[in-house]
Parts: sequence; C-alpha cells; structure tokens
Amino acid sequence: MRTLMKICLPALLLLIFASPTRSQSAAAQGTRTAIRAARLIDGKGETVVSNAVILVENDKIVSVGSGLAIPGDAKVIDLGDATLLPGFIDAHTHLLSEMDGTNLTLQDVEMLRIVATQSTALRALLGARLGREDLEAGITTVRDLGNSGVNGDVALRDAINNGWLPGPRIVAATRALAAQGGQFGPLTPQAQPIIEQEYVTIRGAESARQAVRQALYDGANCIKVIVNGSPANVTLDEMKAIVDEAHTVGVKVAAHAIGEKATRVAAEAGADSIEHAYIVPDDVLKMMAEKHIFLVPTDGTMQTFEDMSFGTRQPSAEEKSRMEKQFQPFVERSRDRLHRARKMGVPIASGSDMYLSMPKQNRGQASLLVFEAYAEAGMTPMEIIQAATRNGAQLLGMLDRIGTLEAGKLADIIAVPGDPTKDVKALERARFVMKGGAVIKNEK
Ligand SMILES: [Zn+2]
Repeated sequence: MRTLMKICLPALLLLIFASPTRSQSAAAQGTRTAIRAARLIDGKGETVVSNAVILVENDKIVSVGSGLAIPGDAKVIDLGDATLLPGFIDAHTHLLSEMDGTNLTLQDVEMLRIVATQSTALRALLGARLGREDLEAGITTVRDLGNSGVNGDVALRDAINNGWLPGPRIVAATRALAAQGGQFGPLTPQAQPIIEQEYVTIRGAESARQAVRQALYDGANCIKVIVNGSPANVTLDEMKAIVDEAHTVGVKVAAHAIGEKATRVAAEAGADSIEHAYIVPDDVLKMMAEKHIFLVPTDGTMQTFEDMSFGTRQPSAEEKSRMEKQFQPFVERSRDRLHRARKMGVPIASGSDMYLSMPKQNRGQASLLVFEAYAEAGMTPMEIIQAATRNGAQLLGMLDRIGTLEAGKLADIIAVPGDPTKDVKALERARFVMKGGAVIKNEK
C-alpha cells in the first residue's frame, strides 16, 4: 500500500494542480463582464453610488465605480433600476436540517427523529437543495453551524467547491462540541449513543482540546460550541481550552449561548461570536464590545412565528392568542437586547438560524426574514446590509476575499430591485446573483 502511494502521489499531485476546478472554469477564463445598475452599495461606506458599474474578470472584481468606461470587448449586463450589493453572508445556517416547526415544544423529539431516520448522506443531499435555495436568494456565503450529521457539511462544502452542484461558499463546523446530552435533553442509557451522531461530547478541558483537534482533522473551518446544552453546560475551563486550541491554528469559535451564565462563559473565554444571546446582561455586552466579539442575533418577527406555528392553515382566535402569549415576550426581549447591543457598540453579524420548513418561503427566502426582525429592532437598512456583508466576512475571517465590492475581491455580487435603503424588504427579492464571477440567476 505504501509503495503504491509513493509511485502514485507525484502523478496525482500533478493532476490536482494542473486541472482547474470546474467552479473556476464556470467563470469563463479571459472574459470581461461589465455589470451596470442605477445604484450600488459597496458595503464599505454608507453612501449609495449612482450610475454604478462593476467590471468583472474571471472570478474577480477589477473595478467598481460611478459611470466607469466600459471596455469594448466586455459583455454588458444592464440591470436597470436595481441596487448592486455584495453577496449576503448568513453567519448561522443549518443546511443539513429541516424540522417541522408546528410544535416547538417537541423540538428535541423532532431532532431525535431526524438523527435516527436520516443518514448523513441523505442530509447532505437535502443540503444540496437548501444550499441552492440560499444561493438563489442572494446568500453567497454561509457559516454552517452543526446539526449536519457526521461531517455532512464538509462533504457539501467540498462538493460545491468542486463545482459538482451550485451552492454558497460554506464555512463548516462539523459536529458541535457540547457537554453530556448535546441538545437532546435527557435520554435513556440505551438511546445515548445517538448523541455522538450529532454532537461531540466534551468531558473536561483536555477532552475539549481533543475535540477541537478532531473537528479540524474532520475538515472543520470553524468550531461550534453549545455552551448551554440540554441538560448540561460547558464550563469556563472547557471553553477557554476550546478557544485556545482553535485560535492557535487561526480558526474561529462560535458559541451558542443564552442567559447570563452561558453568555458570560463565552465572552470571558474570548469566543469570536455569541449566537442567539436572547438573554444577556449589559456587562457581558460591554465585554463583547471591548473584545470585538460579534453578536449573531438569530431573531424572528411575530409573523415568522405565526407562519411557523400554523403552516398554511388558518388558526382559531384562541390558538392565535395562545401563540402570541408564547412568542410576544420573546420577540420583545430579543428586540431590546439588539437595541442595547448596538448602543454599546457590539459588532453585529447577520445570522438566520433557519432550520424549519416554512409554509410560504423556501430556505433561502426564509433565511432573509431575519432582516425584518433587525429592522423592527431599529437597525437601519444600511446597518442591516453591513451586518449581512462586511461584518459577516470579518467574523468568518474572509474580509480579504468577500464582504465588500472592491477591486481584487471575489465577484460575489447581487442586485435587488429599487433602493433597499428606502425599503428593507427589497433585500428579500434578489433578481441577479453572481458567485465568483459566474452568473447564478438573472431575472431581468
Ligand atoms: Zn443554530
């Protein structure tokens, strides 16, 4: 076996490095494209540029500006009364999970059902569909944070990178690290082996370090930690070990944390982002601002919760009022903490945490509903755009390649109708999507 490897390896390497991947060839080599639209928001500044032109060559942006001269040999895509934006970045996805949302109190049972009945291979194929829906909605990059079986997210990421199927760039977490029980709630001893199909259980600081190394070996390019699990929590010692081990190799850590204790553990240990944080005290927000820890507010509007709860059926007045009693305080509290976080200067990156089947939207469309929740909390359309582009890229450590429309960056470009600074819902209606110089969708 070893001898065979010695003979074959140089030939194999030659093959790998000599042939361009299919995704590279998708953006036709040597051709120049000029994209023209009434407006452009580059994600860097706050201004809206009018009479916008972006020149793209192969997979990269070569120039961006107002009224730029278009070279004679360039193919022109004229999008008319639209606004060009950097492709959206969803910093919190679960592309390999789709749950029924009509009974949220049974979510851990629904998760058990998925893990016990759907193989990782099947879930990766689901991810192929959901990833395409994300991309067509204008989400050109995602950070997929677990609930993807055993490394199904890595398989999907690599398949997309190989050009086998269309989908967003994926930063993959592999299995999330968690204390005993993951997020399943208490299980019988006989049922507990199922936990490792979805989470990696950590038992102390050394075990936490081992789990990070295993995730990296499995192909992770970020680490997800469930700080408050169900039933057990990750300790400060374990969290510090995880962050240290990941940061040593330049990999970032996303911490699922809700409540005073868990958010404090995540912030003190120096996680790169805190997910959800529906309940978080001011002094933890202050620590987040000081350490530049991103808040990823995975929020919803009352409309989202209503659609999720009832699907397409019309609820009775009593059902509707019960639903409102259940979710209204949650929605209001989330709004309040986003408001406080912004006031205190906590950096915000957009993340949908969409994992439910929604009655009116596909996964991509449903993932953009989070913008409406941000708008309800008082974020301006420009702030929302930056949270979903530049800030997301910074959180993912990819700002040198994506997140703004600048010369030298990858041509991840979308266009929405009209002016989204006047109507935030325009962001949910991308008509044009380009990823790495390849046109994915052009409805004009
Ligand atoms: Zn999540």
